[in-house]
Amino acid sequence: MSANGKPKFAMYWAASCGGCEISVLNIHEKILEVDANFDIVFWPVAMDFKYKDVEAMEDNSILLTLFNGGMRNDENEHIARLLRKKSQLLVAFGSCAVEGGIPGLGNLGTRQSILETAYFTVSTENPGEIYPQTSYQAVEGELRLPKLNPVLKTLAQVVPVDYYMPGCPPEPHQISAVIDLVLQVLQGKAELPPKGTVIGAGPSTVCDECDRKRDQKRIKKFVRIQDMAHIDPEICLLEQGIPCNGPATRSGCDARCPSVGAQCIGCYGPAQGAIDFGARLMSAFASVIDSNDPDEIDHILDTIPDPAGQFYRFNLANSLLRSSKSAWKGE
Ligand code: SF4
Ligand code: SF4
Repeated sequence: MSANGKPKFAMYWAASCGGCEISVLNIHEKILEVDANFDIVFWPVAMDFKYKDVEAMEDNSILLTLFNGGMRNDENEHIARLLRKKSQLLVAFGSCAVEGGIPGLGNLGTRQSILETAYFTVSTENPGEIYPQTSYQAVEGELRLPKLNPVLKTLAQVVPVDYYMPGCPPEPHQISAVIDLVLQVLQGKAELPPKGTVIGAGPSTVCDECDRKRDQKRIKKFVRIQDMAHIDPEICLLEQGIPCNGPATRSGCDARCPSVGAQCIGCYGPAQGAIDFGARLMSAFASVIDSNDPDEIDHILDTIPDPAGQFYRFNLANSLLRSSKSAWKGE
């Protein structure tokens, strides 16, 4: 507890786009309840706290930490370990912390290939051909940059995690529900779910929340949504040949994307019970393909334009594959 009697609350942003931080602001006036009921002791994107402020806190003195982003560099891992030590409840908040997210697709290449793409390809002006160093001796003293890890890991691959809240970003109504739950627990009106529970999401799939009609139409090829001349507003997108990830994706967003005509890309991660998102999705896609011939099924699956992005856009780092072999070996 803080001197003002309020439990302490922290947020941190590791390897992610920062959308999770913004999504907390999307809970609108509920943010006032957070302020009224918690003492915010660390939230670098919004307030000027320093790492040494956290280091000075007693262990387990923060009640709740929402941690977003994957473990891309040694600074991310250092802060994950620090906040784990200082927090009673550590929540992997958002797809990147839970499953690696889009930055996890970097695990398809090596650390070297990522740096070369960032610094030496056409989108970067780098006339001096400067390659980033982890240490630089300036007049004022040594400047240090975090060191990239060979592969991006999820938060739980580095420290024990109490709860998982998926979503890219998590939906505001789901964040509000979790804050309500913690407040009720503090008032003795509810109990926390078992450790390891996925919170702020549902137990079934996006398809179960989707109002589009499914009539078992069999498909002969997959088509990118932008290449469709006409999209039936009532019928399941997958059954129109648009590779929609709803069948393998955990519910909780109220089928936000298919309800407005876009395919689900799987940001809520694997549905309950699915060990590997991509494997579950391939099985779902295979079930709508109009063929029993393995060669023809392969040919139809080949019409998916971006298989890695389709099957592992958010969860490569948490999949059974995890990375390319060369990335895993640290090359
Ligand atoms: S595959 Fe996509 S469009 Fe079809 S029912 Fe599932 S979520 Fe809806
Ligand atoms: S429909 Fe899919 S991609 Fe869209 S918000 Fe829901 S889980 Fe994420």
